[in-house]
Amino acid sequence: MAKYVYFFENGKADGNAKMKALLGGKGANLAEMAQLGIPVPPGFTITTDVCAYYYQHGGEYPVELKGQVAEALHRLEELMGRKFGDPENPLLVSVRSGAALSMPGMMDTILNLGLNDHSVQGLIRLTGDERFAYDCYRRFIAMYGDVVLDLKPQSKDEHDPFDVLIENIRKKRGVEFDNQIPAPDLRDLTERYKALIRERKKVEFRHDPWDQLWGAITAVFGSWNNPRAIAYREINNIVDAMGTAVNVQSMVFGNLGEDCGTGVAFTRNPATGGNVLYGEYLINAQGEDVVAGTRTPQPINIHQKGDGGGLSLEETMPDIYAELEAIRSKLDRHYRDMQDIEFTIEKNKLWMLQTRTGKRTGFASFKIAVDMVRQGIISKQEALMRVDPDQLDQLLRPTFDPKAQRDAVKDGNLLTSGLNAGPGAATGRVVFNAHDAEEWAMRGEVVILVRLETSPDDIRGMHASRGILTSRGGMTSHAALVARQMGKVCVVGCSDLEIDYGNKRMTVGDRVIREGQYISLDGSSGEVFAGQIPTRPSEVLRVIIDKSLAPQRSQIYQDYVALLGWADEFRRLEIRTNADQPNQAEEAIAFGAEGIGLTRTEHMFFEGDRIEAVREMILAENSQGRERALAKLLPMQKEDFKGLFKVMREKPVTIRTLDPPLHEFLPKETDDKAIQKLATKLGVPYEQLFAKVVSLHEANPMLGHRGCRLGVTYPEITRMQARAVMEAACEVAREGMDVRPEIMIPLVGDVGEFKNQRDVVEAVALEVMEEYGVDIEYHIGTMIEVPRGAMTADEIAEYAEFFSFGTNDLTQTVFGISRDDAGKFLPAYVANKIWEYDPFARLDQKGVGGLMEIAVHKGRSVRPDIKIGICGEHGGDPSSVEFCHRIGLDYVSCSPYRIPVATLAAARAAIKETLAKEKLPKEDSEPKAVSTVAKRVPKKVAKK
Ligand code: ADP
Ligand code: MG
Ligand code: MG
Repeated sequence: MAKYVYFFENGKADGNAKMKALLGGKGANLAEMAQLGIPVPPGFTITTDVCAYYYQHGGEYPVELKGQVAEALHRLEELMGRKFGDPENPLLVSVRSGAALSMPGMMDTILNLGLNDHSVQGLIRLTGDERFAYDCYRRFIAMYGDVVLDLKPQSKDEHDPFDVLIENIRKKRGVEFDNQIPAPDLRDLTERYKALIRERKKVEFRHDPWDQLWGAITAVFGSWNNPRAIAYREINNIVDAMGTAVNVQSMVFGNLGEDCGTGVAFTRNPATGGNVLYGEYLINAQGEDVVAGTRTPQPINIHQKGDGGGLSLEETMPDIYAELEAIRSKLDRHYRDMQDIEFTIEKNKLWMLQTRTGKRTGFASFKIAVDMVRQGIISKQEALMRVDPDQLDQLLRPTFDPKAQRDAVKDGNLLTSGLNAGPGAATGRVVFNAHDAEEWAMRGEVVILVRLETSPDDIRGMHASRGILTSRGGMTSHAALVARQMGKVCVVGCSDLEIDYGNKRMTVGDRVIREGQYISLDGSSGEVFAGQIPTRPSEVLRVIIDKSLAPQRSQIYQDYVALLGWADEFRRLEIRTNADQPNQAEEAIAFGAEGIGLTRTEHMFFEGDRIEAVREMILAENSQGRERALAKLLPMQKEDFKGLFKVMREKPVTIRTLDPPLHEFLPKETDDKAIQKLATKLGVPYEQLFAKVVSLHEANPMLGHRGCRLGVTYPEITRMQARAVMEAACEVAREGMDVRPEIMIPLVGDVGEFKNQRDVVEAVALEVMEEYGVDIEYHIGTMIEVPRGAMTADEIAEYAEFFSFGTNDLTQTVFGISRDDAGKFLPAYVANKIWEYDPFARLDQKGVGGLMEIAVHKGRSVRPDIKIGICGEHGGDPSSVEFCHRIGLDYVSCSPYRIPVATLAAARAAIKETLAKEKLPKEDSEPKAVSTVAKRVPKKVAKK
């Protein structure tokens, strides 16, 4: 018989942490903790197989399930010595969802199930605490109403209907918090809640605990496909959806008095990565209270008290705190990663309710990985696999300019401060709901989303915002958690902020900020400012680029260098940069560039008054005229190249000959004034100049007179550029430096084009070396950026010493799409899922990549040692870098600031390859589904 139910109790369990696909993350880890001897309330997990079955059979369950659930529940009754629904001694359970990949807060949980008008009496007798019993009961009815009966706010500005009722009571009694409401009022509240259900849903609240249980189980399975869960999976790219498990667990109570409480914590600081227990708790509270942000939670330890918020657990319950510390290090080491844990204290006894690998900022992710290597917990390879290259990018993020920030304080613009939940600095315009955030962002506005607290329904809006600000909630609130994961700047728990959704404004003291006004958030300090504040470079950049901070004074920098050093040990790909100027090249070297993969010589043509000589060249009537103008350009280009060579020294410098269509250097046809001005300057008649401009007009310049076609028609341009490169090389070599110029011919689609240009370059090179009496090791190669070039790469390789994939043009020509015009339809393609992503940002591995593979293969078949790289935008995109590694390229070239990302991506690609060869389990601590295909759940339920 198929096993659908897995039991766990103190010291033993049917499942374990490896069974995430079957038991969900929560269930698998509850089982693991039970096995580790960590105190966990007993319970059982209904497998994800049942969820799959449910969706495949139009909302029905396997026949064996009823019996297995009943049996497990009876076992629970025996263990606890209580009976389900018993009016004397009721067993209460929680029903908790839990998918294989954790989706915090996305799906639903119900607490205190098993309560009804009779069993609540039993609970009163059992505990002698009427207030407590009704507190549990009212929570249960509200959660049941929300989750099972779908009694939720109807519109974005409406409040939760159950919250409205309890708020009325708080007001009536003049109390601030729910835990101050007296018992009779809570009892009254349960009646009102039941009435609300009757009124709104036209059904009676179910008293039969078995009805309640199956209602809850079905609701949890149903919640797998609620809109916010779907949106969450979409945003997080969780494609291989496997459904959720359901956990039924006996309740422990954190709301039974002052020696009780509940809390959430991380085994390390999820914002900074610091190796200390980090969390929050509330005395006399249940479950969601801490994360819901209704009461502001207290810090877990003395260390954290700087953040404000009352007595710490370390002070109020030192024994419990010590036990929690012991569990923290046990879990941290056992799982070999930072854990996000949930616990409850019932009458001075600690119970663990959840552990999972915690979400963290990119910053913390990096810090924890580096620390764990130093602590001997994980290997360097594991550390590299844990830091997402894009997360590394967060390290390079700006902070506010400190002077501007001080001035803002002086000018009285510091509005308030809250908890520093998501580091970084953000300035933007205020919006008050997620929907507006999305809409404004679509219009190109930079927005800061301001809410009392956020909920899973807000995630799209949060995604669209630059920063997030809430007035309630703590470091583990929904807003904080999600923002950290998205890498958003976030400040939470600004309790003196009054937010008025209806009038779209917020107030701090006598300051009013309305929708659309600017505010600035410092996610590292928690400060909130009115107005805009300029930003400045991150700590790492201050060491590397500005050199305004000494390396030994920055721990962050040292950790950064360590991680990238490990990356260098494992990567095979060489990392080069795209740079046109010496200062860019210097920056790139500071980031670790091993060469220049692309210098766009045309960028140099726009410097200072050079454009005049360029225009003179273009407008010349014959080659003598062109030569004259080119002679003026030669010394300037030579100086540029010397600058680059001196910075790069023995590192390769790839210089591309002129590429863009010539009209890019001339005024627009329609710009009479500019043409007039230029004509005067050049001393030619207006009409003549105008005619020339018109004659250079092209219907389709991207496919027009550009690239090597310019060099073929105007060989004197190639000649001048080759001479500038070689003279520069010779002069720098004479100064005693090694130089390695590589001259690259763009847009070659036929070996004939390449041969033609190669001959021009070679003749000049030999001539120059002879003149200077210097021998330079130089290479001539080509870009592969049109399909025919890729398909005939074997012919080209006979003459070319290197290839560099120009994947921007190659993507344009493979797709037949002009990138400059793609803005009109590309968003629709992505929205309609025709494309999963923008192929100009992430390499299309099938089409464009397929051609690249052909070119690599053909090129190497003729010239086995041909050097092959990539210099398109894709060179700085992690997935594209991984692809380049897989197809055996020698290097990737990207902009200087993407070098750290590309370096890490290259190391990860190499490690992945080794792991695959060794057939070791994947880097991911969340195991992939064992039977993903069989269990893939259809999108819609066919409810009968
Ligand atoms: P989520 O997946 O949204 O975190 P959980 O299933 O973890 O939802 O439930 C949320 C909170 O409810 C838990 O952190 C815990 O505090 C409380 N809770 C769940 N089950 C129990 C239980 N059996 N006893 C006491 N509290 C519980
Ligand atoms: Mg939880
Ligand atoms: Mg190109």
